[in-house]
Amino acid sequence: MVLGCLTVWALTGAGAQAQMRVIDMHIHSYSGADFGEREPATDHYGVKGAPDAETHRLESFAAFEQYRIEKAMVSGNPESVEAWAAADAHQRIIRGILMFHPDDYGMDTLRFERLIREGKIEVFGELGPYYSGTTLSDAVWQPYLRICEKYDIPVAVHTGGGDPGGTYSWAPKARLALGDPYLVEEVLVRYPKLRLYLMHAGGEDWPEHALRLMAYYKHLYIDLGVMLWVEPNTQRYTSELLRNIKEAGYLDRVLFGSDQMIWPYAIGMSVDFLNSLDFLTEAEKAGIFYDNAARFLRLDTPKRNN
Ligand SMILES: [Zn+2]
Repeated sequence: MVLGCLTVWALTGAGAQAQMRVIDMHIHSYSGADFGEREPATDHYGVKGAPDAETHRLESFAAFEQYRIEKAMVSGNPESVEAWAAADAHQRIIRGILMFHPDDYGMDTLRFERLIREGKIEVFGELGPYYSGTTLSDAVWQPYLRICEKYDIPVAVHTGGGDPGGTYSWAPKARLALGDPYLVEEVLVRYPKLRLYLMHAGGEDWPEHALRLMAYYKHLYIDLGVMLWVEPNTQRYTSELLRNIKEAGYLDRVLFGSDQMIWPYAIGMSVDFLNSLDFLTEAEKAGIFYDNAARFLRLDTPKRNN
Protein backbone atom coordinates (compact mmCIF):
# COMPACT_ATOMS: atom_id res chain seq x y z
CA MET A 1 0.00 0.00 0.00
CA VAL A 2 2.75 2.41 0.93
CA LEU A 3 4.81 1.64 -2.16
CA GLY A 4 1.66 2.19 -4.21
CA CYS A 5 1.27 5.71 -2.80
CA LEU A 6 4.88 6.48 -3.53
CA THR A 7 4.66 5.42 -7.14
CA VAL A 8 1.44 7.30 -7.80
CA TRP A 9 2.85 10.48 -6.32
CA ALA A 10 6.10 10.25 -8.25
CA LEU A 11 4.26 9.89 -11.55
CA THR A 12 1.73 12.72 -11.14
CA GLY A 13 1.86 15.64 -13.53
CA ALA A 14 4.34 16.04 -16.32
CA GLY A 15 7.19 14.18 -14.69
CA ALA A 16 7.95 13.96 -10.99
CA GLN A 17 6.88 16.93 -8.93
CA ALA A 18 9.68 18.63 -7.06
CA GLN A 19 9.68 17.97 -3.35
CA MET A 20 8.95 21.01 -1.21
CA ARG A 21 11.58 21.95 1.35
CA VAL A 22 11.14 20.25 4.68
CA ILE A 23 11.91 20.78 8.36
CA ASP A 24 11.83 17.44 10.18
CA MET A 25 10.97 18.13 13.83
CA HIS A 26 11.40 14.54 14.99
CA ILE A 27 14.65 12.77 14.16
CA HIS A 28 16.56 10.40 16.44
CA SER A 29 20.31 9.88 16.77
CA TYR A 30 22.18 7.10 18.56
CA SER A 31 25.69 6.17 19.54
CA GLY A 32 27.13 2.66 19.73
CA ALA A 33 26.14 2.51 23.39
CA ASP A 34 22.39 2.81 22.90
CA PHE A 35 21.82 1.79 19.29
CA GLY A 36 18.86 -0.56 18.97
CA GLU A 37 18.39 -0.80 22.73
CA ARG A 38 14.84 0.51 22.75
CA GLU A 39 13.49 -0.67 19.39
CA PRO A 40 12.38 -4.08 18.15
CA ALA A 41 14.65 -5.72 15.53
CA THR A 42 12.11 -5.19 12.75
CA ASP A 43 9.38 -2.62 12.19
CA HIS A 44 5.71 -3.37 11.49
CA TYR A 45 6.52 -4.14 7.85
CA GLY A 46 9.26 -6.61 8.80
CA VAL A 47 12.07 -4.23 7.83
CA LYS A 48 15.25 -4.52 9.90
CA GLY A 49 16.80 -1.38 11.37
CA ALA A 50 20.19 -0.07 10.27
CA PRO A 51 23.03 -2.38 11.39
CA ASP A 52 24.85 0.14 13.58
CA ALA A 53 24.83 3.78 14.73
CA GLU A 54 27.21 5.10 12.07
CA THR A 55 25.37 3.44 9.15
CA HIS A 56 22.16 4.79 10.63
CA ARG A 57 23.58 8.33 10.65
CA LEU A 58 24.85 8.07 7.07
CA GLU A 59 21.51 6.70 5.81
CA SER A 60 19.61 9.41 7.69
CA PHE A 61 21.84 12.12 6.18
CA ALA A 62 21.30 10.61 2.73
CA ALA A 63 17.54 10.79 3.29
CA PHE A 64 17.89 14.47 4.32
CA GLU A 65 19.58 15.10 0.99
CA GLN A 66 17.10 13.09 -1.05
CA TYR A 67 13.93 14.47 0.56
CA ARG A 68 15.05 18.08 0.88
CA ILE A 69 15.18 18.10 4.68
CA GLU A 70 16.76 21.51 5.27
CA LYS A 71 16.57 21.37 9.06
CA ALA A 72 16.21 18.43 11.43
CA MET A 73 15.51 18.52 15.15
CA VAL A 74 17.73 15.69 16.34
CA SER A 75 17.31 14.09 19.73
CA GLY A 76 19.38 11.34 21.21
CA ASN A 77 21.97 10.97 23.92
CA PRO A 78 24.18 14.11 24.07
CA GLU A 79 27.21 12.32 22.59
CA SER A 80 25.25 11.19 19.53
CA VAL A 81 23.72 14.63 18.92
CA GLU A 82 27.18 16.21 19.04
CA ALA A 83 28.52 13.57 16.62
CA TRP A 84 25.71 14.35 14.18
CA ALA A 85 26.25 18.10 14.51
CA ALA A 86 30.00 17.67 13.94
CA ALA A 87 29.36 15.70 10.72
CA ASP A 88 26.71 18.13 9.47
CA ALA A 89 28.17 20.06 6.53
CA HIS A 90 24.88 21.83 5.71
CA GLN A 91 23.80 23.39 9.03
CA ARG A 92 20.81 21.11 9.09
CA ILE A 93 21.02 19.85 12.64
CA ILE A 94 19.04 21.50 15.42
CA ARG A 95 20.35 20.04 18.66
CA GLY A 96 17.81 18.34 20.88
CA ILE A 97 18.31 15.92 23.76
CA LEU A 98 16.44 12.70 24.45
CA MET A 99 15.39 12.46 28.10
CA PHE A 100 12.94 10.16 29.81
CA HIS A 101 13.70 11.46 33.30
CA PRO A 102 15.43 14.66 34.44
CA ASP A 103 18.28 12.60 35.97
CA ASP A 104 19.24 10.94 32.65
CA TYR A 105 22.96 11.24 31.75
CA GLY A 106 23.58 12.42 35.32
CA MET A 107 22.00 15.73 34.32
CA ASP A 108 21.41 18.53 36.81
CA THR A 109 20.10 22.04 36.29
CA LEU A 110 23.55 23.70 36.40
CA ARG A 111 24.85 21.49 33.61
CA PHE A 112 21.58 21.86 31.72
CA GLU A 113 21.80 25.65 31.80
CA ARG A 114 25.44 25.53 30.73
CA LEU A 115 24.58 23.28 27.75
CA ILE A 116 21.91 25.76 26.70
CA ARG A 117 24.27 28.71 26.96
CA GLU A 118 26.83 26.80 24.87
CA GLY A 119 24.22 26.15 22.18
CA LYS A 120 24.33 22.40 22.77
CA ILE A 121 20.64 22.15 23.58
CA GLU A 122 18.48 24.17 21.18
CA VAL A 123 15.27 22.23 21.77
CA PHE A 124 14.46 20.49 25.07
CA GLY A 125 13.28 17.15 23.76
CA GLU A 126 12.31 14.61 22.85
CA LEU A 127 11.17 14.32 26.44
CA GLY A 128 9.52 11.03 27.30
CA PRO A 129 8.13 11.40 30.84
CA TYR A 130 5.71 8.65 29.80
CA TYR A 131 8.58 6.15 29.69
CA SER A 132 9.82 6.96 33.22
CA GLY A 133 6.39 6.86 34.84
CA THR A 134 6.24 10.66 35.20
CA THR A 135 4.39 13.53 33.51
CA LEU A 136 5.84 16.86 32.43
CA SER A 137 3.66 18.54 35.06
CA ASP A 138 5.48 16.66 37.87
CA ALA A 139 7.74 18.60 40.26
CA VAL A 140 10.96 16.93 39.01
CA TRP A 141 10.68 18.55 35.57
CA GLN A 142 9.85 22.09 36.73
CA PRO A 143 13.40 23.46 37.33
CA TYR A 144 14.26 22.47 33.73
CA LEU A 145 11.14 24.07 32.32
CA ARG A 146 11.88 27.30 34.18
CA ILE A 147 15.31 27.38 32.52
CA CYS A 148 13.69 26.76 29.11
CA GLU A 149 11.33 29.64 29.75
CA LYS A 150 14.25 31.90 30.78
CA TYR A 151 16.24 31.14 27.59
CA ASP A 152 13.21 30.77 25.30
CA ILE A 153 14.12 27.16 24.46
CA PRO A 154 11.30 25.22 22.75
CA VAL A 155 10.08 22.06 24.48
CA ALA A 156 9.18 18.84 22.63
CA VAL A 157 7.26 16.27 24.64
CA HIS A 158 6.20 12.75 23.69
CA THR A 159 2.45 12.12 23.91
CA GLY A 160 0.49 8.95 23.25
CA GLY A 161 1.68 5.42 23.96
CA GLY A 162 4.88 3.66 23.00
CA ASP A 163 6.00 0.39 21.52
CA PRO A 164 3.92 -2.36 23.15
CA GLY A 165 7.07 -4.19 24.29
CA GLY A 166 8.45 -1.24 26.27
CA THR A 167 6.68 -1.76 29.56
CA TYR A 168 7.89 -5.38 29.72
CA SER A 169 11.50 -4.50 28.91
CA TRP A 170 13.41 -1.18 28.98
CA ALA A 171 10.61 1.08 30.30
CA PRO A 172 8.87 -0.81 33.13
CA LYS A 173 7.17 2.34 34.45
CA ALA A 174 5.55 3.27 31.13
CA ARG A 175 1.75 3.31 31.26
CA LEU A 176 -0.66 4.23 28.49
CA ALA A 177 -2.51 6.64 30.78
CA LEU A 178 0.66 8.76 31.07
CA GLY A 179 0.53 9.53 27.34
CA ASP A 180 -2.59 11.68 27.65
CA PRO A 181 -1.82 15.18 26.28
CA TYR A 182 -4.05 16.68 29.01
CA LEU A 183 -1.27 15.79 31.48
CA VAL A 184 0.79 18.54 29.85
CA GLU A 185 -1.88 21.16 30.52
CA GLU A 186 -0.41 22.36 33.84
CA VAL A 187 2.83 23.19 32.01
CA LEU A 188 0.92 25.31 29.49
CA VAL A 189 -0.75 27.14 32.37
CA ARG A 190 2.42 27.66 34.44
CA TYR A 191 4.62 28.83 31.55
CA PRO A 192 2.31 30.65 29.16
CA LYS A 193 5.16 31.94 27.01
CA LEU A 194 6.93 28.59 26.68
CA ARG A 195 7.02 27.26 23.11
CA LEU A 196 5.90 23.66 23.27
CA TYR A 197 4.90 20.96 20.82
CA LEU A 198 3.19 17.67 21.46
CA MET A 199 5.13 14.98 19.64
CA HIS A 200 2.97 12.29 17.96
CA ALA A 201 -0.11 14.53 18.43
CA GLY A 202 -1.43 12.31 21.21
CA GLY A 203 -0.83 9.18 19.15
CA GLU A 204 -3.65 6.82 18.34
CA ASP A 205 -4.75 6.99 21.95
CA TRP A 206 -5.57 10.67 22.41
CA PRO A 207 -5.82 12.58 19.11
CA GLU A 208 -8.99 14.31 20.29
CA HIS A 209 -7.24 15.55 23.42
CA ALA A 210 -4.41 16.97 21.33
CA LEU A 211 -6.97 18.71 19.15
CA ARG A 212 -8.88 20.11 22.13
CA LEU A 213 -5.67 21.42 23.68
CA MET A 214 -4.82 23.15 20.38
CA ALA A 215 -8.25 24.74 20.42
CA TYR A 216 -7.85 25.99 23.97
CA TYR A 217 -4.15 26.95 23.91
CA LYS A 218 -3.66 28.87 20.71
CA HIS A 219 0.13 28.76 20.78
CA LEU A 220 0.36 24.96 21.09
CA TYR A 221 1.86 22.99 18.17
CA ILE A 222 1.86 19.26 17.41
CA ASP A 223 4.15 17.07 15.32
CA LEU A 224 3.29 14.01 13.24
CA GLY A 225 6.33 11.94 14.24
CA VAL A 226 5.81 8.19 13.69
CA MET A 227 2.18 8.84 12.74
CA LEU A 228 3.00 9.14 9.03
CA TRP A 229 4.59 5.75 8.59
CA VAL A 230 4.63 3.29 11.47
CA GLU A 231 1.56 1.19 10.60
CA PRO A 232 -1.20 1.53 7.99
CA ASN A 233 -3.72 1.72 10.82
CA THR A 234 -1.83 4.63 12.39
CA GLN A 235 -1.68 6.34 9.00
CA ARG A 236 -5.45 6.02 8.81
CA TYR A 237 -5.78 7.75 12.21
CA THR A 238 -3.41 10.47 11.07
CA SER A 239 -5.31 11.09 7.89
CA GLU A 240 -8.52 11.46 9.91
CA LEU A 241 -6.77 13.69 12.47
CA LEU A 242 -5.49 16.00 9.73
CA ARG A 243 -8.98 16.23 8.22
CA ASN A 244 -10.34 17.19 11.63
CA ILE A 245 -7.58 19.73 12.24
CA LYS A 246 -8.19 21.22 8.82
CA GLU A 247 -11.91 21.47 9.57
CA ALA A 248 -11.10 23.12 12.92
CA GLY A 249 -8.67 25.55 11.29
CA TYR A 250 -5.45 24.69 13.14
CA LEU A 251 -3.35 23.26 10.31
CA ASP A 252 -0.89 26.12 10.73
CA ARG A 253 0.24 24.55 14.01
CA VAL A 254 1.01 21.09 12.62
CA LEU A 255 4.70 20.21 12.19
CA PHE A 256 6.18 17.53 9.97
CA GLY A 257 8.15 14.90 11.83
CA SER A 258 9.25 11.43 10.81
CA ASP A 259 10.57 9.81 14.02
CA GLN A 260 12.64 7.41 11.97
CA MET A 261 14.18 5.68 14.99
CA ILE A 262 16.53 2.94 13.66
CA TRP A 263 14.79 2.89 10.23
CA PRO A 264 16.10 5.79 8.09
CA TYR A 265 13.84 4.82 5.17
CA ALA A 266 10.92 6.01 7.32
CA ILE A 267 11.95 9.61 6.59
CA GLY A 268 11.10 9.18 2.90
CA MET A 269 8.04 7.12 3.70
CA SER A 270 6.72 9.93 5.92
CA VAL A 271 7.32 12.58 3.26
CA ASP A 272 5.60 10.41 0.64
CA PHE A 273 2.59 9.72 2.84
CA LEU A 274 2.01 13.41 3.56
CA ASN A 275 2.37 14.17 -0.15
CA SER A 276 -0.24 11.50 -0.92
CA LEU A 277 -2.99 13.18 1.14
CA ASP A 278 -4.95 14.93 -1.59
CA PHE A 279 -7.44 16.61 0.75
CA LEU A 280 -4.58 18.96 1.70
CA THR A 281 -3.79 21.86 -0.64
CA GLU A 282 -0.23 22.52 -1.77
CA ALA A 283 -0.12 25.55 0.53
CA GLU A 284 -1.26 23.45 3.48
CA LYS A 285 1.39 20.85 2.72
CA ALA A 286 4.03 23.58 2.47
CA GLY A 287 2.91 24.79 5.90
CA ILE A 288 3.22 21.35 7.47
CA PHE A 289 6.47 20.51 5.71
CA TYR A 290 8.25 23.78 6.43
CA ASP A 291 6.53 27.09 7.14
CA ASN A 292 4.90 26.19 10.46
CA ALA A 293 8.18 24.89 11.90
CA ALA A 294 10.09 27.93 10.61
CA ARG A 295 7.60 30.14 12.44
CA PHE A 296 7.62 28.00 15.60
CA LEU A 297 11.44 27.92 15.68
CA ARG A 298 11.70 31.60 14.70
CA LEU A 299 14.30 30.70 12.13
CA ASP A 300 14.38 34.24 10.77
CA THR A 301 15.04 35.80 14.18
CA PRO A 302 18.70 36.20 15.17
CA LYS A 303 19.59 34.09 18.22
CA ARG A 304 19.69 35.68 21.65
CA ASN A 305 23.06 35.64 23.33
CA ASN A 306 22.42 35.05 26.98
ZN1 LIG B 1 8.19 9.86 20.91
